[in-house]
Amino acid sequence: MSREQDSLVVCEQCGSAHRWLPLAHGTIARCTRCDAVLGRGHRLALRSILALTITAAIAFLIGISSDVLSLDMRGVAKATTLPGAISASWSGGQEIVAVVAAITALIAPALFIALRLYVLVPLAAGRTPRGFAFCVRTLHHVGRWNMVEVFTIGVLLSLVRLAGLADAVPGPGLFALGAVTMLFAAIESAGLKHLWWQLR
Ligand SMILES: [Zn+2]
Repeated sequence: MSREQDSLVVCEQCGSAHRWLPLAHGTIARCTRCDAVLGRGHRLALRSILALTITAAIAFLIGISSDVLSLDMRGVAKATTLPGAISASWSGGQEIVAVVAAITALIAPALFIALRLYVLVPLAAGRTPRGFAFCVRTLHHVGRWNMVEVFTIGVLLSLVRLAGLADAVPGPGLFALGAVTMLFAAIESAGLKHLWWQLR
């Protein structure tokens, strides 16, 4: 890819190409044809995004290994983790729910974190990772499937619904996944274009 192609940005709304320039903090670049937002000058530096990503990785590991919900029904206590909830949906005949939950709450967030780390760690050290362009493109697609917040809200809703039937208590995993949701929002707000700038 040539330097000239590197610095082009295509509007996702109307497809017109613009020459990309690094933005100052707090500024917004808009499409000259349709006024769609092309990018924002972000306050977060590469190292801050790396730190947020490492924190998200730790919170995600806690989130998938600890109980998200514990139930106490007439003295019988039952707790479940995120993978446990997915396998329970599968064995309970809700295969589609299980597959969608596994993709959006487990696989996509794990890929999102792994790819970010794979790209950010070498960039922070001043090196360009192998397959950089492929990784950034994959990240763009993975971002669309990354919906750990839907699972978190789903568990919160079931907590409210179960409140009258059983003693339902949110587990540490749910708080960790809530933290992951907020960290992802912070990481995603920086967008992907800042990654390309690091090459220059
Ligand atoms: Zn446009």
